[in-house]
Parts: sequence; C-alpha cells; structure tokens
Amino acid sequence: MSDTTLAAALTAELASDLTATSGTTATVIAPFTGQPLHEVPVSTAADVHDAYASARIAQVAWLASGPDHRRRVLLKAHDLLLERREELLDILQTESGKTRGQAFEEIFQGASVTRYYAVSAKSVLKTRRRRAGIPIVVSTRVSYKPKGAIGVITPWNYPIALSLMDVIPALAAGNAVVQKADNQGALSILASRRAFIEAGVPAALWAVVVGPGDEVGNAIVDGGDYVCFTGSTPTGTKVGERAAKALHGASLELGGKNPMIVLDDVNPATAAADALFSVISSMGQLCVSIERIYVQRSVSIAFTDALAERFGSITQGGALDYSTDVGSLTSQAQLERVQAQVDDAVAKGATVLAGGKPRPDLGPYFFEPTLMTGVTADMECFAHETFGPLVAVHVVDTEDEAIDLANASEFGLNASVFTGSVARGRRVADRISAGSVNINEGYRASFSSVDAPMGGMKRSGLGRRNGPEGILRFVESRTVANATGLLTLPRTGAELQQLTGVMLMMLKALKALRRR
Ligand code: NAD
Repeated sequence: MSDTTLAAALTAELASDLTATSGTTATVIAPFTGQPLHEVPVSTAADVHDAYASARIAQVAWLASGPDHRRRVLLKAHDLLLERREELLDILQTESGKTRGQAFEEIFQGASVTRYYAVSAKSVLKTRRRRAGIPIVVSTRVSYKPKGAIGVITPWNYPIALSLMDVIPALAAGNAVVQKADNQGALSILASRRAFIEAGVPAALWAVVVGPGDEVGNAIVDGGDYVCFTGSTPTGTKVGERAAKALHGASLELGGKNPMIVLDDVNPATAAADALFSVISSMGQLCVSIERIYVQRSVSIAFTDALAERFGSITQGGALDYSTDVGSLTSQAQLERVQAQVDDAVAKGATVLAGGKPRPDLGPYFFEPTLMTGVTADMECFAHETFGPLVAVHVVDTEDEAIDLANASEFGLNASVFTGSVARGRRVADRISAGSVNINEGYRASFSSVDAPMGGMKRSGLGRRNGPEGILRFVESRTVANATGLLTLPRTGAELQQLTGVMLMMLKALKALRRR
C-alpha cells in the first residue's frame, strides 16, 4: 500500500476512533519519505475527562461480564491480530520507519501478551486463603478488586507492543483504559485496537487520545485510578510526581544505557553477530537496546573486528518487505540527536569503526548504524541514552571490572552477558543492577518472556510489566477475615489477662513449627 492510500484509509479510522474534539490537527510525517502521512486530530483535557466518564460506565458491565467472557474476547482479538498482521505491519513500518522483521516482533509480542493475560488473569486474580493470624479463631482470604480506570501513556517507538503490554492486563483484570498515544504511534495503536473492538471489547472501555504531553498527559494522570507511563526518564519523573500528589499508583518504564559484557570464553564471531542485532533493532530506538559493550581483552580484537565486519554488511532501506536488516530513524529530532552524539564523540577523539554518517540517498532520516571505540566520560554518548544505533566498545581486563563498569550508570533497565558457560553468565547476572539480564542474547530472551516481569532499577523506572506482577498493578487487594466462632477472642481486660498465657504459648509453638 502506498503512503497516500494508507493515510487516506487511516485518517478515516482516526476520525471515528479517536476521542478528539479540539478541531485542530497535527501533521504526522512518514519517516521513510519525510512527507506528511496524515493529519492527526488533537485531543484536549476535556476529551480526556469525557473519555474517563464513558470508560467508567463501560467498566461496570465489563467487570460484571466475568473472567471467562474476558478470556474469550481477548483470545478472539489475538486471532484477529494475527489475521491482520500484513496490514498492521504496513502501518507500523510506514509510521515508525522500522523494518518489516522488527515490526513483526511487535505483532509477536502483542499477540503473546494478549494470550498470556487472557489465559492467566483468572488464576492470578483468584480469591485465595491466607494464613490466619490466630489459627482456629480466625479465617482469612484475599480477593482482588480492579482499580477502575487506568491511564496509559505511550511513546512512539513500539506503539503496538508497549500499548498491549499495559492495556491488555488492565482490561483482563476488569478495568477500563484511557490511553494517550504519541502522535507518531497513534495509527498503529488504533489499527490494532480495532481487532479488540471487533472481538468484543466495548469501544468506550478503551479510549485513545492524542495531544500535547503536558495538557493531555496531565489529564490522563489526574483522571485515572492508576497510571502506566512509558517514555523518557525526565517526563516519567514528572508523571510520577503528579501521580504521587494524587495518591495514584504508577508504573514508570523509562530510559536506559544498556550494557553488554563479552567474557573471555565466547566464540567472538557468534557473539558479534548477536551483538549487532541488539544494537540495530528498530534503529536502536528501543529502550532495551545495547549501547555499551565491555569485552575482555583476550577476545577483544577478534570480537571487535567481527562486529565491525557485521556492521559493514547490513542492508539498510525502507522496503515494506523482509529484504532489509535496518530501517530509518523515526524523525528529524531523532536524526539530530544521534548525529549530535556522534559528532561530539568524534570531536573529542573517539574512533568510528563503522557507520557514523546520515544516508540521505535512502531517505531523510536514515543514519548508518555506528560502532565506536575510544569513547570517554567527557563524551555525551558515554553515559547518556542515545536511543539510536550507536554503540561503544570498551576493553576490560577482568570479569569484575566489566561488572563494575556495567553497573556504573544511573540507569538499570536491561543488560546482556555473552559467555561460553550459562552458569558463569548466571553468576555475572546476579551481580548486575538491571531489571532484565539476557545471557547470550541482547534483549529478546527476556522481552519475549511475557510470564516474567520487565522493568527498570534506579532511574530506569518503577514497577514492573508482564508476568503476574504486570496484572497485580491494576487491582486493589482486599483482605476479608472472619471470626470462625469456634473460639471467642478476648474482649475485656480480665479476659485478655486470662488468655495472655495461652497466646504466648501459641506464638512460641508457631515459631517452633516454622509456620509463617
Ligand atoms: P517522552 O517522555 O518524550 O514521551 C513519552 C510520552 O509521554 C508521549 O506520549 C508524550 O506525548 C507524553 N508526555 C510528554 N510530556 C508529558 C507530560 N508532562 N505528562 C504526561 N505525558 C507526557 O519519550 P519518547 O521520546 O516518546 O520515548 C523515548 C524514551 O522512552 C526513551 O528514553 C526510551 O528509553 C523510553 N522508553 C522506555 C521503555 C521501557 O519500557 N522502559 C520503552 C520504550 C521507550
């Protein structure tokens, strides 16, 4: 489909699916061509307010429909996502500039997370007995109540995967969602949302708005009962502060400066092949992509040479098929950001082993994936997130030095260890301060494991998505304990005095039995 046909088809979708009444629009640029793709209608704070009001009404019936109904609807949506994958891939590529293969990763992830929560929500959220504080006298249960309306704020880089990783567990737990999409990701989100609406998710239950981050974003935080934010650390900090003032919970999925450690027992050529993909996927515009490599000296030359050769053999372009390895940066701002970091590093003495230049012959925002050595602490790309396809290789003498340098960052999102021994990799992983560590992989091993939590330590965020942790964000736990009536709790001073001896004996017995 050409950009123009796609834009015409999707602008019609937007008009009916977005909650946006300002009457103004914003121009979205197609990254492959630099030409306008479509005009996105802009929402206001009042739109967000209305969306929450309708969503809260829809949530009552959605909750009452029960977990089995929700499972059926979500599994049907899963099938529709797969059936429509080619159309979704066209939209995703056209809107983001990524390759078809990397766009497919988003569909795969979105479908996986939909299936996972469809199938697991009921058992994770089942009411369960807990140990009573006073055996025999008391019986205790914990049940879960959905929070109500969840605000979701998403960035432009992985519009489908990142949306579904938050929206689906929220819906599966019986909540409504009001989502603020980035202008650049809105088409992909609306197109994938269609699958859910057709499968039976009420349209008002999952509203989508777009618009200025401060106005519309603030309204999202204020109007919901919980907020999921994915984006940069500075914006996430503002969102966290605002949510805290309202006493709303928040999960914050933020930036990273993700390290890879290459140990001295690797096959350097294999490690280089995998390292390449961890740097270039979605042109490095991926929160978990690798931007720093620490390689042990004995394998450093073989590894770096193999990596430089891999960088040199990449096929780059804007084809809507699987013929390219890497696509375009998504915007002019991204091009300027990556170019500025490369220029700064080169001016201060870094060596470019591969890439380093824009490719205007391919399209306005294309930039060669870039491999550097000699990157030092005075350079912008040393410690700050590039969010682009730029990686620096540093040589280290020992495993300990590699770990210390990997941890010497304000971020702690993702990390990777390449080694000939998984046991050694696990030992190293245990010493790394990051929410995920991949062994002999860059990010896909943990990212695709939707039963396991994903999130950041330090300034990479708060809270976790995926796994049971990812759905427990969206519920309030409620403890219901009853007096069994088999024995009566003491009420008066005299009764308490009489029973203190028995109660002390009980405490000692429970400890002796190692009972929780
Ligand atoms: P961003 O923080 O600029 O924007 C993210 C979203 O927040 C957008 O929808 C934006 O409109 C909105 N926003 C802007 N100001 C706001 C405000 N005051 N209140 C509420 N919302 C506001 O980030 P970006 O440039 O779109 O995304 C890139 C960043 O996101 C990178 O730092 C990347 O590492 C991070 N990211 C993290 C993850 C993760 O899972 N940890 C995933 C993807 C991206």
